Amino acid sequence: MDEPVTALADLAAQAKHLSPVLGRYFERSWDHGEGHRLYDTSGRAYLDFANGIAVTALGHHHPRVTAAIHAQADKLIGPTGAIGYSEPVVTLARMLAETLPPPIDTVMFLNSGSEAIDASLKLVRRVSGRPGIIAFRGGFHGRTLGSLSLTASKSKYRRRFGPLLPGAYHATYGDAASVEELFATVTAPDDVAAIVIEPVLGEGGYIVPPPEFLRRLRAIADRHGIMLVFDEVQSGMGRTGKMFAAEHSGVVPDILLAAKGIASGMPLGAMIAKKEIMTWPAGSHGSTIAGNPVAIAAGLATLDLLEGELCANSARVGTLLQATLQQKLQRETIVTEIRGVGLMIGVELATPDLAGAVAQLCFKRGLLLLECGKKSIRFSPPLIITEAQATVAADVFAGACHDARAGAPA
Ligand code: PMP
Repeated sequence: MDEPVTALADLAAQAKHLSPVLGRYFERSWDHGEGHRLYDTSGRAYLDFANGIAVTALGHHHPRVTAAIHAQADKLIGPTGAIGYSEPVVTLARMLAETLPPPIDTVMFLNSGSEAIDASLKLVRRVSGRPGIIAFRGGFHGRTLGSLSLTASKSKYRRRFGPLLPGAYHATYGDAASVEELFATVTAPDDVAAIVIEPVLGEGGYIVPPPEFLRRLRAIADRHGIMLVFDEVQSGMGRTGKMFAAEHSGVVPDILLAAKGIASGMPLGAMIAKKEIMTWPAGSHGSTIAGNPVAIAAGLATLDLLEGELCANSARVGTLLQATLQQKLQRETIVTEIRGVGLMIGVELATPDLAGAVAQLCFKRGLLLLECGKKSIRFSPPLIITEAQATVAADVFAGACHDARAGAPA
């Protein structure tokens, strides 16, 4: 059933007060969510494998998260950071620190992924006294001027916003030698404060690098006294089948950044670092509402559930979904690669147009999937997904690929 044209037109008319800058993958207005389903305003249910770009990790309206938000809202909404301590904030910091290997044990809360990146840029510069930051082409780290200086997945994100942060350089994702090449040609290593990397590339295409690549970056960083920063805004919080993608390679970064799934959609980001690095003095960085108790309460409930069975479910159903996609698409000529880890799965199509057509066909058939990279589709379902739901999604996707090849209108 299509959404009544009037409802959408009404909302679109009211939306004239919204800045046109926000890109929308779908022309649809949304009403509510329940578990793995998102409902539009006409009542049609969609299998939500997009999750607001890999955010609602526990699915929509998880009863425990919702209850935690209600309870905290009844008690205290306003942030307390600037005037003292509050129990939920201290507890979530401890719980996050406990999910990471020592010595990463000190947390600063922010409101978003971009803010967490910016905070890390300021921290590494301040601690090292060095200006340089190395990031990677294909990486996405956010849209504030600081984080945008590292983002290099699409030039349209950077177009006409320059000059961006001086001292940001880009190496080739997956190629540790390209970092050495930068040292030899562009910036001396002792001018570099940090190497910032997504341990699994998100927006840039859901690409899993060989573990050896991350190990080599760790060795390069150690050799030159450079800090290694993992941006786990997309790959963290159970998405890859472990709490953080770093665990797959065994590489321990100096700083780890999380956001998106951390509080099931409430605005929260976190920078977690070794105590010996987090040495900046009180007041040298801060935020008025970061770590507000309601977002933190959602974070506490989310982390509790992730630590239970959900990381394991992400690994198990993710493996099954990837195998099912491989099997159903093995003879599909427009699919060039299927890759990923846990519930972070990318399917590459032969052309960008085909990727767009497949995503729109899936949307028409009730499955929400987003594009990523140059011509890929990302599967980032909630971690509560069952094998049966994953199989339904794989069927819809395979059908859409078949029809896109046959030239069905998107
Ligand atoms: N880093 C990564 C890896 C991301 O995927 C994103 C968001 N897509 C960000 C940073 C920026 O996060 P936010 O949109 O919350 O600022």
